[in-house]
Amino acid sequence: MEASSSKQGKFERISALFLRRRTVAVCVFAILTTCLVAGYYVQAAVTNLRSTHQSFNDRQLRNGYIAISDLHRLVLIIQEASLRGVMTDEAVADFRAASDFLFVRTDTFRQIQSGRSFLKEADDAIDALLRAQSVADEAIATDFRDLDGAAAALIAQTQTAREALVVYLDKMRQLQDGLLLGQTSAVENQRTVVWVTLLGLSVLGIAATALLRKEVMAKQARREAEERVRHLAFFDPLTGLPNRVQFQDRLTGLLVQRRRLALLLVDLDGFKQINDTYGHAAGDDILRHVAATLTPYCSSHDGFAARLGGDEFAVVCMTQDVPSLMQICDAIITAIARPIVFEGESVAVAASIGLATKAHLGGEVDLTVDGLTRVADFALYASKSDGKGKFTIYDEVLERQFLERRAMVEELPQAIADGSLEYYLQPKVDLVTEEVFGFEALARWRRNDVIVPPSVFISTAEESGIIADIDCTILSNATRDIADFNRRNGTRFSVSVNFSTLHFNSLKFVETVAQALIESGLESDLLVIEITETAEMQDWDKAKQIVSAIHSIGAKVSIDDFGAGFSSLAYLRTTVADEIKIDRSLVQDIETSDAARFLLDAVLDIARNLGLDATVEGIETRQQADIVLAMGARKAQGFFFDAPMPRDDALASAMASARPLLERPAS
Ligand code: C2E
Ligand code: MG
Ligand code: MG
Repeated sequence: MEASSSKQGKFERISALFLRRRTVAVCVFAILTTCLVAGYYVQAAVTNLRSTHQSFNDRQLRNGYIAISDLHRLVLIIQEASLRGVMTDEAVADFRAASDFLFVRTDTFRQIQSGRSFLKEADDAIDALLRAQSVADEAIATDFRDLDGAAAALIAQTQTAREALVVYLDKMRQLQDGLLLGQTSAVENQRTVVWVTLLGLSVLGIAATALLRKEVMAKQARREAEERVRHLAFFDPLTGLPNRVQFQDRLTGLLVQRRRLALLLVDLDGFKQINDTYGHAAGDDILRHVAATLTPYCSSHDGFAARLGGDEFAVVCMTQDVPSLMQICDAIITAIARPIVFEGESVAVAASIGLATKAHLGGEVDLTVDGLTRVADFALYASKSDGKGKFTIYDEVLERQFLERRAMVEELPQAIADGSLEYYLQPKVDLVTEEVFGFEALARWRRNDVIVPPSVFISTAEESGIIADIDCTILSNATRDIADFNRRNGTRFSVSVNFSTLHFNSLKFVETVAQALIESGLESDLLVIEITETAEMQDWDKAKQIVSAIHSIGAKVSIDDFGAGFSSLAYLRTTVADEIKIDRSLVQDIETSDAARFLLDAVLDIARNLGLDATVEGIETRQQADIVLAMGARKAQGFFFDAPMPRDDALASAMASARPLLERPAS
C-alpha cells in the first residue's frame, strides 16, 4: 500500500517536473545546445572533407601513374638504344613521342594541381617530372650523341621523379582514406544529430502536449467553476429556477420598462410537515415538482418563475388581465396539489397564492420590486389566513384588514394583562349517554365590546410569539374555573386547552402545566392538552419528551384537527398521545358521501388500533351524530350539541341538561 502510494508520489513528482514550464525551457535549451554542438562537429567534418577533396583528385592520381609509365617508356627506349649502341630513327621517333606524352602529362599535372590547395608532394613530383623532361629534351637536342650518358642521366632523373611521384601518390592515398573516414564520421555525426533532434523534439512535443493539456483542462475547470459560481449566484441549485437575486433584477428591469405584469407569490402549505414525515429527499422532490409545475405557466405568458427561498416561489406573468390570472392561479393550485410518487408513496402538497398586478401599485411612487412584493404578500397572507390552498387578489381593503390585524395584535399584551382575553367553553359529549363530560376552552378577545374569534389573531399571535402568553393565560383561567366549578358542584368535568406547537420546543412548558394544576387544584387527569396544528412542529424528539413529561404529571395529550393537514400522521409518531380529535372536514360530508364515511371509519380504526381515544369534532346534525356513533366513536363535539359559549353559560347549560357526573369514571 505504502509502496504503491510512494510510486504514485514519484509519478506525480515526475509529471509535475515535466509539466513545469521552466523544465521545458531547460529541455529546449539542452536540445538546442546538443544540436548546435553536433552541428558544429558536422560542419567541421564537412569543411575538413571539402579541403581534403580540394587536394585529392582522381585524375591527378591517374596522371601520376601514367607519368611514371611515360618515364619508364623513355628509360626503356634509351636503355635499349644504349645496349644496342645506336639510336635508330624508329627509337628516336618513339623517344620523341614518349617525351611529348610526358610533356603533356606533366603539363596536365601542373594545370590540375594549380587549381588546388598547395601540396608540397605534388610540387616535388612536378619538379622531378620537369627535370626528367628537360633531361629527355637535352638528349633529343644533342641527337643522342652521348647515348650512354643521356641514358644514365635519364635513369637517375626518372628514379628521382618516380620516388617523388610515389611520395605524392602515397599522399593521395592517405587523402583518399581521410576522405572516406571523414565521410563516414560526417554521416555518423549527422545520424547523431538527427537522433538527438528527433528525441529532443519528441520530449519537447510530449512536454508541450502535457502542458497544453494541463492548461486546457485548468482553463476548462476554471470556466466551469466560473459558470457554476455565476449559476449559483443567479439560480437556485435544487430547482434550477432563477433565485431571489435574479428575480429582483429581472422584475426591476420589467418595471423600469413599464411593462404590464402581475406577480404571484406561491407558498406551500405544510411543507415542513412533509419534510418531517417523509424526509428531506421527499421535500426536495416536492420543490422540484413545484418548479416544474410553475415553469409552463410563465413561459406561456412571457414571464418567469423564481424560487425566493424555502417553500416560497414567485411567478411573474406579463399580463394584467385579472380573469386569465385567476385561471392561472387555479391551474397552479390544482397542478401543485397533484401528488407525486416518492419511494412508492404518494406525497402531495397544497399551495397558497397571493396575486398582485402592477396596477395595484397605483401611483408611480411604489413602482418597485419591494412595492409589488409587499402587496402580493398581503394577498398571500390573506390566502393563508383564509384556510390555505387558495389564491387571493390584492386589494386595499385586504391591506387595511391586515394592518388592523397587526395593530390589534400589538394590543394583545395589554388585553392579556387587563383580562379582556377570555375563553368560551364548548361541551364535549358522550354519544351513548348524550351527557357532557368536559369542555374545550377556546380563546375569545373582548375588544371594544366586540368578541374577536381566534381565527383573527391566533396565527398573527404565533408569528409574534405572544401565543405563549395567550395559551398560558387560558390554561390558568380555565383550569382554575373548572376546578372551582367541580369543587362547588361535585362534578368531574374535564377541560381541554389548546396549545400551539410552538410550546413543544421546551420542557419549561411542562412546568407551566404543573403550576396550573397545583394552583387550580384540578385533578390532573381532567386536564387535556390539545396540540393544535397551527404552527409547525420543529423538534419531534423534544415533543415526544414533553408529551411524556405531561403524562408524568397526570395530564393527557390530544392531537387536534386530526386529518386536516399533512402533519396528522407525523403527529402519530408521538404515539404517547392519549387522544386524537378528528377534524370536522372528515365529518362534514358523511351524510351524503360513501367515500367520506369510509375515510372517517378508517381514521377511527387507526385510532383504535393505536389504542388512542377519539373525539369527533364538528358534529352539526343528528344524522352525523348517529353515523359517528354507529362507527363506534363515543366522544363528540359540535354545534349540534352546543356552540362555544361564555364560560358561565356553558357550565349552566351542561348542568341543566346532564345528570350529575360525580359517579362517572374519569374520561
Ligand atoms: P379547534 O381547537 O379545532 O377548535 C374547534 C373550532 O371549531 C372552534 O373554533 C369551534 O368554534 C369550531 N367548531 C366547533 N364545533 C363546530 C361545528 O359543529 N361546526 C363548525 N363549523 N365549527 C365548529 P374557534 O373557537 O374559532 O377556534 C378556532 C381554532 O383556534 C381552534 O380550533 C384552535 O385551533 C385555535 N384556538 C382557539 N383557542 C386557542 C387557544 O387558546 N390557543 C391556541 N393555541 N389556539 C386556539
Ligand atoms: Mg382544539
Ligand atoms: Mg380541532
